[in-house]
Amino acid sequence: MPVTQSLWFDPSLTLVAGEWRPAVSGQTLTLINPSDGSEICQIARGDSADIDAAIHAARAAQDGDWGRMPAFERGRILSRLGQLVLGRVDDLAQLEAMDVGKPLTQARADALALARYCEFYGGAADKVMGQTIPYLDGYTVYTMREPHGVTGHIVPWNYPMQIIGRSVGAALAMGNACVLKPAEEACLTALAFAELATEAGLPAGALNVVPGLGAEAGAALSSHPGVDHISFTGSVATGALVQQAAGRNVVPVTLELGGKSPQLVFDDADLDAALPFLINAGIQNAGQTCSASSRILVQRGIYEHVRALMAEAYGRLTVGPALQDLRVGPLISDRQKQIVNGFLAKGEDLTIVAQGQILADAPADGAYVQPTLFGDVPPDHDLARDEIFGPVQVLIPFETEEEALTIANSTEYGLVASIWTRDGGRQMRLAKRLRSGQVFINNYGAGGGVELPFGGVGKSGHGREKGFEALYGFSELKTVAAYHG
Ligand code: NAD
Repeated sequence: MPVTQSLWFDPSLTLVAGEWRPAVSGQTLTLINPSDGSEICQIARGDSADIDAAIHAARAAQDGDWGRMPAFERGRILSRLGQLVLGRVDDLAQLEAMDVGKPLTQARADALALARYCEFYGGAADKVMGQTIPYLDGYTVYTMREPHGVTGHIVPWNYPMQIIGRSVGAALAMGNACVLKPAEEACLTALAFAELATEAGLPAGALNVVPGLGAEAGAALSSHPGVDHISFTGSVATGALVQQAAGRNVVPVTLELGGKSPQLVFDDADLDAALPFLINAGIQNAGQTCSASSRILVQRGIYEHVRALMAEAYGRLTVGPALQDLRVGPLISDRQKQIVNGFLAKGEDLTIVAQGQILADAPADGAYVQPTLFGDVPPDHDLARDEIFGPVQVLIPFETEEEALTIANSTEYGLVASIWTRDGGRQMRLAKRLRSGQVFINNYGAGGGVELPFGGVGKSGHGREKGFEALYGFSELKTVAAYHG
């Protein structure tokens, strides 16, 4: 098959204990290109047997060379890996575009972010310090940070490279040995990354990759007694299952479960600055972004104006195959298209302000939906409360700051929020009172921010990844109290 021949790794294999091997069962799954519905290649259908082998390999690496390696050497390997990723940015972007349906420019940005994570965590690996604690006479007390041991990473299909970078990168920097279970819909860049990690000098077993179904490989990883920490990104329902399974073994989990992130636009906002963010944050990656901004709250005095500006911009949106690199590509799968169409049907009682257009010659079997902007949406409507995970945004008018805050905080989620206003007092008041893991003032996302701790409250999950903070999440604190008289 031509696609497989052009890859520099065999996508039908797992990586366990430094060896590329087929799934123990010998079974495979078909990877689909969502731009046209064609088969890309076969991937391994790993299950509990592969996960078990991977966890044993990780344990052996952690107990062996990898666990004993000085932090600065781990950092060097990660930094080298960052360089290798940079050297393959275009190849990785092509893979992600084909696998996820992500427009090429966006896929390239993800590859660059993956390199940045490797650089950032490579540089940070030997800078995680403990403390000395003043205590009773005759004691010396200090703390130190130690790896959990074996960390499991269950990754979704929407941003494979970024999510692998932020979780596996931080876990490796702290000296954990990782078992990575990429999503069954998109796992090519996970395998490519593992191949590059080997080339960078990562010892056998420090990173194991087992593609497979969530209910098989994913469930096996989250319920395995040999894993010491789980990082999960995905849906609320699956996150709860992962937490329950890990909880039976008293294994800590970090959950990143998406959101219904609002942007609050006040009468005094700089609309020229705001407009690109209001739209991009909703349609990037076809809205399949955990931190997508799907709710745009606009103060009544400028509501009609913002609505008109956004309608015009939506009218210019075109949707088509990932390699054509338009603003919006297909959704990940036909299944996701059905989910999003289900939400659009729920909006039949609402006003559609504007829609983007699917290219007339877009392949019929691609998972395309029209980007859709709804107006005057009641804050308690399903479309204003539920995560849609498609290119759909709702406009909600408000009168006062207090009302905006109440609406913003009214969903079960709390991942990201942004405030558009020139009023400094309002900026500070709202930044404090918004129930959200991140708050942006007069921007949204701050360019991705590898350095910025990220995670949610409520149903958006718990724990923080990204930034230096993630290194604390991927380690345990040990307190040593020495009595010396
Ligand atoms: P999912 O949560 O089921 O899948 C995410 C990952 O979890 C995948 O690797 C999957 O294989 C794995 N998984 C699935 N079942 C598992 C189980 N029982 N035990 C352990 N791991 C398991 O998400 P999905 O089904 O691909 O998408 C459904 C919805 O989830 C989307 O419509 C969207 O709303 C949401 N979602 C959110 C994010 C995010 O970044 N927060 C990412 C993907 C999907």
